[in-house]
Amino acid sequence: MIDQLEQIKREALAEIKQVDSPKDLDTVRVKYLGKKGSITTVLRGMGKLSAEERPKVGQKANEVREEIQASLDKMFAELEERALAEQLEKERIDVTLPGRKVHMGARHPLTAVVEEIEDIFIGLGFQVTEGPEVETDYYNFEALNLPPEHPAREMQDSFYVTEDILLRTHTSPVQARTMEKHEGKGPVKIVCPGKVYRRDDDDATHSHQFMQIEGLYVDENVRMSDLKGTLETFVKEYFGADRSIRLRPSFFPFTEPSVEVDVSCGSCGGDGCRVCKQTGWIEVLGAGMVHPRVLEMSGFDSKKYSGFAFGMGVERFALLKYGIDDIRHFYTNDLRFLEQFTWE
Ligand SMILES: [Zn+2]
Repeated sequence: MIDQLEQIKREALAEIKQVDSPKDLDTVRVKYLGKKGSITTVLRGMGKLSAEERPKVGQKANEVREEIQASLDKMFAELEERALAEQLEKERIDVTLPGRKVHMGARHPLTAVVEEIEDIFIGLGFQVTEGPEVETDYYNFEALNLPPEHPAREMQDSFYVTEDILLRTHTSPVQARTMEKHEGKGPVKIVCPGKVYRRDDDDATHSHQFMQIEGLYVDENVRMSDLKGTLETFVKEYFGADRSIRLRPSFFPFTEPSVEVDVSCGSCGGDGCRVCKQTGWIEVLGAGMVHPRVLEMSGFDSKKYSGFAFGMGVERFALLKYGIDDIRHFYTNDLRFLEQFTWE
């Protein structure tokens, strides 16, 4: 029986070494140490042994059981360690994998156009100035030589908050406010970007809210030729060096003389096409020499000072530059539209 137990021990230790999972290890444990296991089976035959032999066999059985148990424990610990190592290997972070794409926001096309135009004028010595969108009647109209009977003051053109307060219809009040702050001393050289509001029915070319950039330069001896030179430089910077401008006489209450400014058509180079309605020119902005009354109302001596002013619609500049056909795209904020503009 001693030999039998020794044999069981050898087999058990050999089998334990082959095992590669905790489940199989448990099967081996049951096979040798369980209630119906090999050792128990051997010990059942102890009844046949002499009183002398029994304790020896009993002791041997205990030794074999302990050895097998120790081997099982050792193997179990080893398997656990192996499993942990495998898991760590599997969950290892591969730093060379490409990252997941993060959806980045981008500047709105109108913001980008405003910044581009601002940059050009900053390069020409202008300062960017802003003012309130909710204005008084005085700054929006009166200070700009828009007398009470002027059609632009009528209710259907403006959003009035009270009888005397309205959403500004242009960015010109910023010019009046800035001149006032200068207390009659030049130079004033500013561009004023911002939202303006008019009671318009929205369609492909009109919106009740839109953006303007106006410019003002007041100093001694500012001439019409300064205006033309400034606008020509701006247009070439914005649309391209091959473009030119022409001035046509016009009328605005706050400038005298006043001009409409056309830029040569970029699609046909001036030969005439559908974009320019066969004229070779596209109207882009209004301008003129600051009306002496506007200068005087804001505290400037119109005999000493002169100035020019200009104003443009930001949407129109964006439409022309990027070939967009409907102004409403800028305000409905459809991501499919906005994502086409990936600015640096
Ligand atoms: Zn054309």
